[in-house]
Amino acid sequence: MAPITSPPEPSRLKVAIIGGGPSGLGAAIAFNKLPYVNWTLYEKKPQISETGGGISVQQNTWRLLEILGAAKNIDPVDFFRAPDGISGQTRNGKTGVLLEQSSHAADVPVNQRSCRMVRAKLQAALLQEVDKSRVKVGMKLTEISRLPDSKRIRLQFADGSADEIDLLVGADGIRSLVRSFAFPEHHIRYNGQSAYRTIIRKSTVFQTIPEMPKCPVFWQNTGGKYVFTCPLGTDDFEVTARIRRPLQTADDGGPRTEIVSWGRPFDFSGLAAEYDEFCQPVREVIKLAAEASGDNITQEFALFSGPRLDSVVAFGTLALIGDASHPLSGAFGAGAAFALEDVYALTQCVDFAWRNDASLESALKLYDEIRTPHYRNLYQVLDDFAAVNTTLVSEKLGVDKEIEERVTRASERKAGWMYHYEIDKVVASKLSAEQPGLHTAVVA
Ligand SMILES: Cc1cc2nc3c(=O)[nH]c(=O)nc-3n(C[C@H](O)[C@H](O)[C@H](O)COP(=O)(O)OP(=O)(O)OC[C@H]3O[C@@H](n4cnc5c(N)ncnc54)[C@H](O)[C@@H]3O)c2cc1C
Repeated sequence: MAPITSPPEPSRLKVAIIGGGPSGLGAAIAFNKLPYVNWTLYEKKPQISETGGGISVQQNTWRLLEILGAAKNIDPVDFFRAPDGISGQTRNGKTGVLLEQSSHAADVPVNQRSCRMVRAKLQAALLQEVDKSRVKVGMKLTEISRLPDSKRIRLQFADGSADEIDLLVGADGIRSLVRSFAFPEHHIRYNGQSAYRTIIRKSTVFQTIPEMPKCPVFWQNTGGKYVFTCPLGTDDFEVTARIRRPLQTADDGGPRTEIVSWGRPFDFSGLAAEYDEFCQPVREVIKLAAEASGDNITQEFALFSGPRLDSVVAFGTLALIGDASHPLSGAFGAGAAFALEDVYALTQCVDFAWRNDASLESALKLYDEIRTPHYRNLYQVLDDFAAVNTTLVSEKLGVDKEIEERVTRASERKAGWMYHYEIDKVVASKLSAEQPGLHTAVVA
């Protein structure tokens, strides 16, 4: 098939990407490969940045980073992958007893095996591939409207400027304004838990706590309380503590507004005593996290989630990607992969429709048909976990038995397929079924 040349400006597809997280940056890279697309990325923060903490890069994340050309920007010293092939452990947080251990599957290529790194480094690897001249920072989207007598959408920004576009891509995260505009009945809510994330020095951890395992470890307790520890790249070590924190009211009786915090600096020393019941290595690592200061101070993430959306597109002109399309609250440690899968599917469907002279609406319909069933399957996994939880609570087991049973039963329902999902094959199969022989990928 002959390459598509850039059409004159008026016939180009004008796309606005809202949000500069992994999904927005991925979309910027992929749309940039479509010569008939005139895209702009709008980010509300003064610069493209990512709050602290570590992130797992799963096999499917690696594959998509390779497709986008960003994998080469990640230096091996920047991530941690256990040299002995252990991909994760779960321990009883109170006793330290090992309950479960997993290893990388032998059939996963070494360079695609899961690893963990500082989130900002993943963000930077994507940003390196983005045409920055089309990124507008400090641009908070405040209002969206559909233009009468036209399929176009009007965007209003906090600084008073506006834009009119053909396709609105909501990459604006879990609290998406774009999603609220498309589906006003859909609401997310605080799920009663907050995560506290700190990066400390790896060398200090292993000097102070030589018995700390050199792999990702969930130190489980009951009631949703756990501590996650993991070495990262260079001299970084991650400590994440999750705990129930009921919605409190402010002094005036209204909801505690700061509960909507995301990446807010937090003095962890005030919470450290909550972990006194954990085993010694955890208590010690929590102490190090509580002592961290400066750039490494703990950040608080109030966890929000919401029901599955029945559709990830609206009006034939709006598509949701990343956390905007599936408000799952980081449940599977694969949100970056889901975000980049959305990007791949959306841009391939847009390209397929353009090449076949089909409408944007038909492209979005295809995108929806690929992604909505996938998210239905992921929500089913969550429902299965919730059922395990309800049964366990009703059994009123002792603490150690409950922890052990939780790990065993969750493990039986583990859905490893989500980390090895091959979106490129799913998209190719869908598009070739649509119109055999017409599809040629240009984003790859
Ligand atoms: C505790 C926790 C642990 C996690 N662990 C992992 C992990 O190990 N591995 C993994 O892959 N994923 C993990 N995730 C999930 C992952 O962080 C998300 O899925 C991923 O960041 C989603 O990217 P995104 O681009 O869709 O959204 P975000 O990263 O939230 O980016 C949204 C962007 O939109 C901008 N924005 C929002 N509103 C507006 C507006 N009105 N105008 C302009 N800009 C706007 C924001 O400033 C932000 O930059 C975790 C999540 C949580 C909460």
